[in-house]
Amino acid sequence: MTAPVIGVLALQGDVREHLAALTAAGADARPVRRPAELDDVDGLVIPGGESTTISKLADIFELRDPIDKRIADGMPVYGSCAGMIMLATEVLDGRPDQRGFSGIEMTVRRNAFGRQVDSFEAPVTIAGVPGGSFHAVFIRAPWVERVGAGVEVIGTVTGGPAADRIVAVRQGNLVATSFHPELTGDLRVHAYFVDLVRATPGRRHLRA
Ligand code: GLN
Repeated sequence: MTAPVIGVLALQGDVREHLAALTAAGADARPVRRPAELDDVDGLVIPGGESTTISKLADIFELRDPIDKRIADGMPVYGSCAGMIMLATEVLDGRPDQRGFSGIEMTVRRNAFGRQVDSFEAPVTIAGVPGGSFHAVFIRAPWVERVGAGVEVIGTVTGGPAADRIVAVRQGNLVATSFHPELTGDLRVHAYFVDLVRATPGRRHLRA
């Protein structure tokens, strides 16, 4: 079976780690920096990093409209941390000039867990990801404050001071997590996304 071709938006952030995790999870993973490279992938990961920078670079590299168009056409996208912010229709505590892709109908709060706890780890259960709770790493992470009717909450923090916060969501083929599964060696979130891409009809690389 042909491996699904999955791009990692390579403007800024932890691109290499996602490429490695996707490859280990069975994808043909490639960096995406140009519209022509985007044309060639069946799914896209937006990595963690800095959403204000990714927003700016998406315009400079002329990727904003092509990504919005692929999202409208049903391409699966997974955003982690800054990537979650880039997939939110509304951002609190963002910069006035930052702009996301036409993504998940939700409100996220940027840097929500507070500067005192810039980074922390907590268990998260994720619906659709078997094998028990996920050890999640949060780095200046957003949380989700509101979801629209079409959005499924698939993950909440299960313990500690941030218990019950929404940190993973899905709307159709769009998936977002506040945390960084690419840093822990647990491939289950990437495997979930690779399966989603594999199951999406109209994959470019299945067409002759
Ligand atoms: N705080 C960052 C932002 O606003 C996200 C942090 C991360 O991706 N680790 O984009």
